[in-house]
Amino acid sequence: MTDSWFFIAEAICDRCGGQCCREAHPPLTRDRIDDIISAGHPFGTIEYRGYACLAGREDGMCVMFDRGRCRIHTVKPETCRAGPFTFDLAGSVLEIWLKQDHICPLAGLLRGEPEAYARLFAVAREELVRLAQSLSPGELDIICRIPEPDTDKVAEIPLGDDFRC
Ligand code: SF4
Ligand code: SF4
Repeated sequence: MTDSWFFIAEAICDRCGGQCCREAHPPLTRDRIDDIISAGHPFGTIEYRGYACLAGREDGMCVMFDRGRCRIHTVKPETCRAGPFTFDLAGSVLEIWLKQDHICPLAGLLRGEPEAYARLFAVAREELVRLAQSLSPGELDIICRIPEPDTDKVAEIPLGDDFRC
């Protein structure tokens, strides 16, 4: 994946205006909360909706969205790092879903760029497995009830017999 691909991806997200950061409330693992607090962000940016997550502003955008960019890029939540891949759980199987092009132009770019797809899928898989293994069954149940329309399943990853959701 060349550097030019990153610039193209960045330009696509700039033009999109961060639609995935609207009403996002991305879940947070305990480790990621520590990272965010250690990076100097106030505890008030975090709220609890049956699971710990980043709060939203009155206009619906994530509290960390600022002037068109994520201001916690280096410590952003697992689901944000995984985007435009997202997840669901079916028992002990982690399902990975990819947003459809019409709601995420970056996903459209990925579908046409196998090398970029493979790299980002590997990141998403690692982040989402860690998230699923870090949160409680109750938290995961609430998160998985949030509708994620306009996505396509692209992978199923068994998490092992020890994993229970
Ligand atoms: S990842 Fe998709 S939805 Fe999010 S800002 Fe980029 S193009 Fe828009
Ligand atoms: S943490 Fe960053 S990438 Fe994630 S929803 Fe908030 S602004 Fe968007």
